[in-house]
Amino acid sequence: MKKTVIVGAGGVGNVVAWKCAQDATTFGEIWLVSRTLSKCQAIASEIKAGTGVEIKTARIDADDVAETASFLKQVGADYLLNIALPYQDLTLMEACLEAGVHYLDTANYESPDNPHFEYKYQWAYQDRFKEAGLTAILGSGFDPGVTNVFCAYALKHFFSSIRTVDIIDANAGSHGLPFATNFSPEINIREITAPGRYWEKGEWKETEPLAVSTTFEFPHEEIGEKRIYLLHHEEIESLALNLPGLERIRFWMTFSEQYINHLTVLENVGMTSIEPMTVEGVEIAPLQFLQKVLPDPASLGPLTKGKTCIGCLITGTSKETGKEETKFIYNICDHQECYAEVKSQAISYTAGVPAMIGARQLISGAWLRPGVWNLEQLDPDPFMDDLNAWGLPWHVLEVDQELSL
Ligand code: NDP
Repeated sequence: MKKTVIVGAGGVGNVVAWKCAQDATTFGEIWLVSRTLSKCQAIASEIKAGTGVEIKTARIDADDVAETASFLKQVGADYLLNIALPYQDLTLMEACLEAGVHYLDTANYESPDNPHFEYKYQWAYQDRFKEAGLTAILGSGFDPGVTNVFCAYALKHFFSSIRTVDIIDANAGSHGLPFATNFSPEINIREITAPGRYWEKGEWKETEPLAVSTTFEFPHEEIGEKRIYLLHHEEIESLALNLPGLERIRFWMTFSEQYINHLTVLENVGMTSIEPMTVEGVEIAPLQFLQKVLPDPASLGPLTKGKTCIGCLITGTSKETGKEETKFIYNICDHQECYAEVKSQAISYTAGVPAMIGARQLISGAWLRPGVWNLEQLDPDPFMDDLNAWGLPWHVLEVDQELSL
């Protein structure tokens, strides 16, 4: 029987565990392991009640390579799904190499001391995974993840070449709280307060944080027109490299005025700093403290109502007509439907389902290819079929024009 180990029992780990349990014949013996055992046990007992499937649990420290590798060998793991934090990517890749286990994650490596993410640290593992005959899949969430697959699918089926890509992510849901983040507050705030970045004609261009914005009409009446802000996001690094002939790629996200106002105040008073300071003899970074006082993203599930829409606005030369065309490939997800299914809101759902789907491609053999891969380097078709089958149906819209600024 296959053995699958999920590391991380936060909002996204919860969804991955539920979805793997829904497909237990594929995933075999499923383990949910994390730093806090009680969180794994609570999720496992809800899944048992909801699906009848038994999930095994254990406590591990994923920062400790020897401890993790010895655990993986002990249970005879075949696949490791890293749903902990980006800080654990390299130690978990090392543990997988030591224990002979295939690897998948949803976010690229970031050092806790430097809010700057780049793929170079993980791409450096290419030869070691190849030589070990093991596959590492990087960034199998929604963005990165599904967005990379949307681009690969567009290049395979719609366009002979792609000129521009705008990845657009809207959360039009509301939890009714003054300020909360939908996934790990620390990771979320680090991402948003960093300078904006995009890639054009072979060069990286940098902007002040949240300084560039425009509006976009989302293809759902419950969302409508929303202001979107340019951010740096990790998938644009790999897509800029892997989409031949690309001229420009950018990433955009919606934020409400209320969210930006709170964030501005928190920044102005120094609460988003990651520089540690000593408070009554205890060293703590303000952002880590802020994370403790903000609502736990997992607690937002029952409160959040409304829709998300994430998609890729792609302009290129049509395979069919030879003319330039623009298409928006996207998914719409409903917070409350997600909660009814797996006890999580749509942000965790849209990140967790693709991790399960990416792992299905490893297990089926469709994506089993020794080395380290971003999703656009792999065949998009079975993944796109699984999106429709496992809860994230996608649509394609012909659009009149590219995004205007
Ligand atoms: P949470 O903070 O809710 O959960 C993280 C989990 O990892 C917690 O259970 C935490 O344990 C555990 N963990 C942290 N450090 C360790 C460690 N050293 N050893 C073992 N376990 C550890 O985060 P989310 O669930 O919201 O996010 C999970 C991942 O998903 C992140 O990497 C995030 O960037 C990524 N993500 C990707 C998206 C995408 O679309 N690609 C979208 C959203 C998120 P404890 O409970 O003890 O704190």
